[in-house]
Parts: sequence; C-alpha cells; structure tokens
Amino acid sequence: MTKRGIERLVREWQTALRLSDWRIEVEVLPELVVAEDGRWAEIDCQRCSMLAMLKVAGRRSTEDIERSVIHELIHGLLDDAVSYHAMLAEAGLDKRGQRVAVSEMLMLQEQAVWRLEDCIFRLAQEARNVRTQVVDG
Ligand SMILES: [Zn+2]
Repeated sequence: MTKRGIERLVREWQTALRLSDWRIEVEVLPELVVAEDGRWAEIDCQRCSMLAMLKVAGRRSTEDIERSVIHELIHGLLDDAVSYHAMLAEAGLDKRGQRVAVSEMLMLQEQAVWRLEDCIFRLAQEARNVRTQVVDG
C-alpha cells in the first residue's frame, strides 16, 4: 500500500476516533516487521504537543494495514506511560512498584486494544457491506 493510501486511512480513522486535533505523521517501512517483537506498526505520541509518529509496515494487505492503523490509534488514545509513572510516584509507589504496576497496566491495555481493534474493524466491514448492498440492490 502506498504512503498516500495509508495516510488516507489514518485521516479516516483519526476522524472516527475523534483524534482530528492530533497531527499524525506516517512513516511507511519497507520491512515486513517494524519491531523486534514482531509488531507490524507502532505509534509514538507526544501528548503535550498533540503530535504522533505512526510507523507502519506497508507490504501487507489493505485489511491488515487498516487493522494496524486502528490498533495504533487506540494506543494513541491510551498510551501515556510517563504520566502513569508520575501518578504512581505521586501516590507514593517506589520505582520497582511503578515498573510492576505500569507493566501490568500495559499488558491489560494491550489485550483491550486488540479486542477493540477487532470489534471496530468488523463493525466497519459490516457497515461497508451494508452500504454496498444498498448501492447494488
Ligand atoms: Zn498493541
């Protein structure tokens, strides 16, 4: 998929997820895998400046790329490990406690993001199918 095509998907999902006030830069990576842990995409958000960098492996099906875009944008809504650490420090938790709590929270968050991505993508597919049937019928 071209960078332009991915950027179009990002704008579409940015609007749907009410992230329109964010500036999201897209980088398409030629390699199939973005990170060593096997992820296909990653997002790096600077919450204070409402700026995000989305890296996506582009040599995949449109469906897989769209799923990655949805997945990473949901992460964009939720990820703010720096603030979580600060809140836990404020609450009196030591460094080790902060690490344990944040890593547990990120694991739970990952599971929730996968489920939301799957649900949102399937609903969008169903809506497109209905629209196609209306147009065809
Ligand atoms: Zn994830």
